[in-house]
Amino acid sequence: MKTIGLLGGMSWESTVSYYQIINRVVKQRLGGFHSAKCLLFSVDFAEIETCQAEGRWDDAAAILADGARRLERGGADFMLICTNTMHKVAPQVAAAVNIPLLHLAEVTANELLRRGMTRAALLGTRYTMEEDFYSGVLQRRGIEVLTPDAEDRGMINDVIFKELCMGRIDEASRQKFLSVIDGLRGQGAQGIVLGCTEIGLLVRPQDTDAPMLDTTLLHATAAAEMALDC
Ligand code: GLU
Repeated sequence: MKTIGLLGGMSWESTVSYYQIINRVVKQRLGGFHSAKCLLFSVDFAEIETCQAEGRWDDAAAILADGARRLERGGADFMLICTNTMHKVAPQVAAAVNIPLLHLAEVTANELLRRGMTRAALLGTRYTMEEDFYSGVLQRRGIEVLTPDAEDRGMINDVIFKELCMGRIDEASRQKFLSVIDGLRGQGAQGIVLGCTEIGLLVRPQDTDAPMLDTTLLHATAAAEMALDC
């Protein structure tokens, strides 16, 4: 079994989910007492969030590159950045180490295409929805990307940072997300990409019959499978 390196803490609320999912998948595949070999370097998210808000992406990249080197020195065979948003600096992080980076947008594109979906809605932080570092990966794989209108993007971004990253789950916010999801389906979205690792804590499969792609679940599952070479 390979050792997984997790660059987490963005926020730690969703890093908990990564750890659970990775271990569940390894246990399902190997049975018994088996669990995943993994290392976690968890950042102080306040430092990252400040860099984001002030547009200091090179500083954020330096923090993550330092974390990536620590994972490599610790013996990780490959690594994950446990957030969609910080894939904005994935090239700098990948360049800092010699171990492979399992890129979240590539994992998402693989799953959309596996399910025959070429028109998908993307929900996430305003960085993820409004810039092209994430949607560009999907588009280059032939997937059309829909995003909510400006008002809904603002609502979603606020809920992510003011509620979900703070550990708050609010029913009214869940209903607002579900209404946005309904609207995007009406526009022809075949799949709804929960492109922020905390959204799956709010919108669960039992809340809607929309075909959802929870990026935390996809990324963590892909990591466990990569560790097991399956
Ligand atoms: N975890 C979130 C994401 O997947 C947002 C937190 C962050 O800005 O990294 O995008």
